[in-house]
Amino acid sequence: MNMNYEIVIGLETHVELSTESKIFCSCGGHSAANEPNDCVCPACSGMPGMLPVMNKRVVELAVTAGLMLNCEISRYTTFDKKNYYYPDLPCAYQITQLNHPICTNGCVPVKTSAGTRDIRIKQIHMEEDAGKLVHGGNSSFVDFNRTSVPLIEIVTQPDFRSAEEVVVYLNKLKSMFRSGGISECEEGAMRCDVNISVRPEGSEEFGVRTEIKNMSSFEAIERAIKYEAQRHMDALEYETESLVQETRRFDDVSGKTFAMRNKETEADYRYFPDANLMPIVIDDEWLEEIKAKKPAAVDEKAEEYAAVGISDKEIAMLLSNHKLMALLDDTVALGCNPKDTASWILTDCAGILRKDGKTLNELEVTAQTLSTIIKMVDSGDINRNAGKKILIAVVESNVDPVAYCKEQGLDKKFDSSAIDSVIDKVISENPKAVEDFNNGKVKALQALFGACMKELRGAGDPAVIKELLEKKMSK
Ligand code: ADP
Ligand code: ZN
Ligand code: MG
Repeated sequence: MNMNYEIVIGLETHVELSTESKIFCSCGGHSAANEPNDCVCPACSGMPGMLPVMNKRVVELAVTAGLMLNCEISRYTTFDKKNYYYPDLPCAYQITQLNHPICTNGCVPVKTSAGTRDIRIKQIHMEEDAGKLVHGGNSSFVDFNRTSVPLIEIVTQPDFRSAEEVVVYLNKLKSMFRSGGISECEEGAMRCDVNISVRPEGSEEFGVRTEIKNMSSFEAIERAIKYEAQRHMDALEYETESLVQETRRFDDVSGKTFAMRNKETEADYRYFPDANLMPIVIDDEWLEEIKAKKPAAVDEKAEEYAAVGISDKEIAMLLSNHKLMALLDDTVALGCNPKDTASWILTDCAGILRKDGKTLNELEVTAQTLSTIIKMVDSGDINRNAGKKILIAVVESNVDPVAYCKEQGLDKKFDSSAIDSVIDKVISENPKAVEDFNNGKVKALQALFGACMKELRGAGDPAVIKELLEKKMSK
């Protein structure tokens, strides 16, 4: 008889931090590089005698991440050397944190169809990334641009019970880290190792675990978990193979996992404290400073937006892009309506950019400019059409909204004498339509209205213009 099994998963997630420079030297990160080995200095390429210097911003971002994941922040944190030899690691050791990681004991609620589960965060530590090997022809090349780029590694307890929970958790981290300016989490900047085991339902003991690496997307992570869980269950159920603790590589093409190596133990890495780096002490003052800069938690932010009527779809867009969120918040702070502003940004600006083959990531409008346009519309100085015209000019050519509005005559709407004279002009220039209307063709009025709108170049409240036109025609 088939037994029911429970899947147990713990994650180790590496996230590349959005800092201007690397973790222990002043080189720009690899995102600033155009060519291989563009962003390299004697320190990050492992020249003898070079010493690491801690990047303060890395500590601040790691603490911010810890606060977002409800962790305890260590007031005393140290670095260790993890020794192994590989050509992409010029020092033959990685600087990481083993004994005193910067954050511990966190917790993240994860909501799925199965309900809400609290995933415990064992720790977050800071470390440096390795370089990249590029294989071509009969040679292998090494690119050190990524060497020493700062990472945080977020380690959970084995608390996940399904692939769905894992994906929800990862998306949540991504939203949080983007909104907190911690990482853009682009492809390759968020890498996740999955530790997995299965056990008979109801059992208290954990089964043998394997660690899967090499997934390039959340979708691949989901596939890898499903494959690997089934492999474990088959092994237990049919004794097809005996499970061993090992590291396995996920192959995207076949959708299978393959053994890479037996799992190294801590002893294999000969960890020891890095005497080149002073312990970091985080005092109350510094911690308060970091706390003050931390953005509101994603859940709180989502609730705040929902409460003012912003749609779920818009909230998702905002939470995944902290630049847009800041633009919205700043524009609202200048006195604009939140729901309205969200639609100016996420519908109007997005539409204008899309026409030019761009995305909202490339939006350069300031809150000041956007609020000026929105206020001109709200106060009735111009209609929404005119506002949209100004927005197009602002987004495309960064014009001054007020000057552009004057120059284009978009504000002449409430100058009713201007509207009056335009209507008179249209009436005198279209005798045929006037005659048709007088002969009972109601449709002719629409043609005259169109001609007025054209003459006014979209300015003026359409309802007011229509009313005036009808009044004049019925005389
Ligand atoms: P190691 O020291 O071997 O790296 P850790 O205790 O740091 O082991 O755990 C690494 C990851 O493996 C953690 O995310 C943890 O939750 C997860 N893990 C540990 N035991 C199991 C298990 N039996 N099944 C699934 N995941 C596990
Ligand atoms: Zn460097
Ligand atoms: Mg570990």
